[in-house]
Amino acid sequence: MSAPNKSYDPVEVEALKPEAIERMRDDALAAIAAAGDLEALTHVKTAHAGGGSPLALANREIGALPPQAKAEAGKRVGQARGAVNKALATRQAELEAERDARVLVEEAVDVTLPYDRRPAGARHPLTTLSERIEDIFTAMGYEVAEGPEVESDWFNFDALNFPPDHPARETQDTFFVAGPEGSGGTSQAGGSGGGTSQAGGSGGGTSQAGGSGGESGVVLRTHTSPVQIRALLERELPVYVIAPGRVYRSDELDATHTPVFSQVELLAVDEGLTMADLKGTLDHMVVSLFGEGMTTRLRPNHFPFTEPSAEMDMLCYVCRGESVGNPDRPCRTCSSEGWIELGGCGVVNPRVLVACGVDPEKYSGFAFGFGIERMLMFRHNVEDMRDIVEGDVRFTLPFGMEI
Ligand SMILES: [Zn+2]
Repeated sequence: MSAPNKSYDPVEVEALKPEAIERMRDDALAAIAAAGDLEALTHVKTAHAGGGSPLALANREIGALPPQAKAEAGKRVGQARGAVNKALATRQAELEAERDARVLVEEAVDVTLPYDRRPAGARHPLTTLSERIEDIFTAMGYEVAEGPEVESDWFNFDALNFPPDHPARETQDTFFVAGPEGSGGTSQAGGSGGGTSQAGGSGGGTSQAGGSGGESGVVLRTHTSPVQIRALLERELPVYVIAPGRVYRSDELDATHTPVFSQVELLAVDEGLTMADLKGTLDHMVVSLFGEGMTTRLRPNHFPFTEPSAEMDMLCYVCRGESVGNPDRPCRTCSSEGWIELGGCGVVNPRVLVACGVDPEKYSGFAFGFGIERMLMFRHNVEDMRDIVEGDVRFTLPFGMEI
């Protein structure tokens, strides 16, 4: 670069001409005013006030001017850069104020909102329905009875008059925990390690079973009916018990089956009980659960532990039978049949009474049992059994906190 030269005319230096400096300043001021947020302003600052900006480059040219021209050009460039820096600072302050105001709105906390409320959650509808059924019967003087889920063969089948070759005793239907002693039947065991120890806690069940000849195996109970036997053995007559509980069958889990489900079993043994008492009890139950005007009907069937035995249906609580033969009013709940199958019932077989040491000449009784999942499904239009067993809170919440 050549040394300062007195004859050097600043007007000839393009970048230092007054109009050029003004244009650079005006460009910078326009860009600053147009910056919409702090990030844009940072880019504007680099472009118009940074080391590579037009004004900074012009400033470098000043050194080559003669002293007088240097002072004039320096003043011009200095004023322009001062104006740009001032505008930058002003815009920066404006944009920061805008951002702060926006953040205050966006992050506002409503301090009047309640801070200590928790979602109430919900009980599983199987539990609440089961308890509702228990309430109906305890109000009539029944006791709630319980029994072990790992049950002796004798309680589950023999005492209930199942013959030794009854198909329910097959592994297709029943989970065997242990086979009869010495019969090699343990190969049927379901691998349930804790099963036998639970059976041991069943209050002498196995020793009583031993009374039947020591050939009893151990199963996961396939119905709540063994609680009938336990109730008759443990209680003084008359006996009025209701036994809700889990039962097990060798089924795959699908839309209509589950290997673990819930039943309610009812047993009444007293002097002079007949099928008419059973019918009246069933009618009272369906009225209590589904409302006035409900009734039941009995269809002949066969169960080993009752004689006579019946399948019990309840009137469809949705159409009340009006969908039958009425294509204009089809009913999904009962498939327009007017009745919904509920479960099995009957007069207690005298053989069962004898097995429990009850004199069938003096006492008689009735029993019934049904699945709670099934009732829950048609009562609430639950279409898939898996929803009931999977424990997803989204299924349970709509049922609320019924206590
Ligand atoms: Zn119907």
